[in-house]
Amino acid sequence: MRGVKDSYIHLQLRSISSTISLAMAKNAGLGCDGCGQLASADHISRRLRRLEWATRYRPVHIQVLLLAAVAPLEDADYFYCPGGEFLGEAAQLLRAIGVSFAGRPIEPVHADFQSAGLFLAHILECPLEDGDNSKVDAASLLREHLPSVASRIRRSLKPKRVILVTEICQLVVQDMLSMDLGCPVVLNDGKPFAIGATTADEEISRFRAVLDSKATR
Ligand SMILES: [Zn+2]
Repeated sequence: MRGVKDSYIHLQLRSISSTISLAMAKNAGLGCDGCGQLASADHISRRLRRLEWATRYRPVHIQVLLLAAVAPLEDADYFYCPGGEFLGEAAQLLRAIGVSFAGRPIEPVHADFQSAGLFLAHILECPLEDGDNSKVDAASLLREHLPSVASRIRRSLKPKRVILVTEICQLVVQDMLSMDLGCPVVLNDGKPFAIGATTADEEISRFRAVLDSKATR
């Protein structure tokens, strides 16, 4: 009898373990390729929509990839959003670069940005699932997702240079410097350029000088 019971238990265990493997495989499949977060159908369709908006203005040869940390929560703040006006991060970046946008339609501004060989991307292409006050540890998520970002930069975007344009935890910066992106990462005295609403004029001048030059350090 014991033999029969043992093999029954064995079968049960096998069935449980294959159920767990299946669930793990399914879960792994649900991770969004743009941010690594577990993704609902809504998450994926939003991601694809933004990807499509950005791709319209992707230069054939990217001179400078401006890389920010986490994509903004609102579509209206997303740089390549086709409607409305430039707000939030998008407006701050254009101001820093010196592309005029006030009173201009969005399309020619995007076209100017594109013809200058500039492309904006985010390490996490999607916002944190529960917003800026997310309990998720953004730095860990950024670090976990870096290898796929590095591979996207090296294999697909292939820019001449990468410039980090938002404040990013130094651990993430260090990880990034240790990876092969196929091009140099230009920093501001070892740190990202912190382009935002309160960026000092001095930092903006340095940022423009780096953009205008072919500096790779
Ligand atoms: Zn995502």
